[in-house]
Amino acid sequence: MSFEEKLAKLRELYTEQNLLTGIGALLGWDQQVYMPSGGAETRGAQMAYIGGLAHQKATAPEVGQLIDDLAAEIPDLDADDDLAREIKLAKRNFDHSAKIPTDKMMEFIRVTSLAHEAWTKAKTDSDFAVFQPHLEKILDLTKEMVSFFAPYDHPYDPLIDMYEVGMTAAEVKSIFDALRPRQVELLRRIAEKPQVDDSFAHTEYDIETQKKLNNYLATLQGYDWNRGRLDETVHPFTTGFGLDDVRITTHYYLNMPLSAIFSTLHETGHALYEQGLSRAYHNTALGGTNSMAVHESNSRLWENVIGRSKEFWRFLYPIAQAFFPANLGNVSSDQFYRGINKVTPSFIRIEADEATYNLHIMLRLELELAMIEDKIQVKDLPELWMSKMKEYLGVTPPDDARGVLQDVHWSGGMIGYFPTYALGNLLAVQWWNQMLSDLPNIPDEMAAGKLDSILTWLRENVHRHSSRYTAQELVRKVTGEGINPDYYMNYLTKKYTEIYDL
Ligand code: ZN
Repeated sequence: MSFEEKLAKLRELYTEQNLLTGIGALLGWDQQVYMPSGGAETRGAQMAYIGGLAHQKATAPEVGQLIDDLAAEIPDLDADDDLAREIKLAKRNFDHSAKIPTDKMMEFIRVTSLAHEAWTKAKTDSDFAVFQPHLEKILDLTKEMVSFFAPYDHPYDPLIDMYEVGMTAAEVKSIFDALRPRQVELLRRIAEKPQVDDSFAHTEYDIETQKKLNNYLATLQGYDWNRGRLDETVHPFTTGFGLDDVRITTHYYLNMPLSAIFSTLHETGHALYEQGLSRAYHNTALGGTNSMAVHESNSRLWENVIGRSKEFWRFLYPIAQAFFPANLGNVSSDQFYRGINKVTPSFIRIEADEATYNLHIMLRLELELAMIEDKIQVKDLPELWMSKMKEYLGVTPPDDARGVLQDVHWSGGMIGYFPTYALGNLLAVQWWNQMLSDLPNIPDEMAAGKLDSILTWLRENVHRHSSRYTAQELVRKVTGEGINPDYYMNYLTKKYTEIYDL
């Protein structure tokens, strides 16, 4: 076979992988949106079958041979050339997947699929005991998976690498260590000041009208409805079954309209990224995404940096008032802006303000590290959660539903994911600073309801690169430096100095 024929064969394999993972994702979407709880066992078997098939095909010895041949025969190219990167990434993906036996992968999918049902019930009833045996099984399997990746500096390294290619526990810890004291200090200064009034956000907002407003928001952001849809779930998420079907979900609460608004802005941010991935790289190793931090930087940028900004609401607030005249008619735009930026230590991560959010992540990282290092047991988690919340945020959740059971991630076996949210926050502000320096008119455009320059900039600088760069490579390419917490801290300090008169 010629080099070109081998390359075509590799891309055929990636095309097939995309078909299988897309089908698997569709099963997962249905599980979280429509499936009756009785279907859990069968769905677990279906998802494990598809996932196992994909894994088996991706890790067949002849695929490894094919990639090795390509690497040996590749013409002399610059290391940054598309083809050089494609083969290098295919090799990385193969080596990574081939470390895990297919039957282990299938077991993991089956176990996490059932755990999702148990978690839903445990969260609804605030009963950790229902979820505990599932999480124990997941943790055992996770540790076994980690062992396949030895040697490593830290057993958490292979886990974070699944969501953040190339990132290590030491790197994350050093970024968080630089961030933590500054976040705590900012919080302390804010707590000394009179609190802002957000009582308007706790009256009853008609759900059907909320739905209309949320649809409007996604449209305003530039979401392509012809290639997506918005549904409701317990825990909002975004999923894609290919470039042309990228779906978002949100959750409506009668007394908390801001929850759906910021969830929708967030998930649409994810979806815009997926809808903007390169078509040229699709069905190659460079397609898709390989950094959840970059993914979360898109969602957190839309949710917070844009979605909680004065300029954004200068345009949107009169529209929101027209949707909810009884709730917002007598609330000034200034009060609204301060209210949606209220800083208050809270129990729930996804409802957290920008000043406290990363502390929720640091708490989870600490617990995940302790679990992986065998320093704590699953049964101790509820109590540890409570004491860490007290230590980090000064509040104690009234029950496990608002404590250790609040997030879906562990039920899905996603130990190693949480740090990407905090990294995403940092990247979001780094993108924003660069964008404003490239396009200084953006704040004025936002105030006029024009968001297309933002999306165009993101498409050009971030989205279209798909998996071509790691997060650290991409931020260097776009902004000239690596992930740097200074920008985030400066952004927070400036914003809250004005709101809280620090
Ligand atoms: Zn997200």
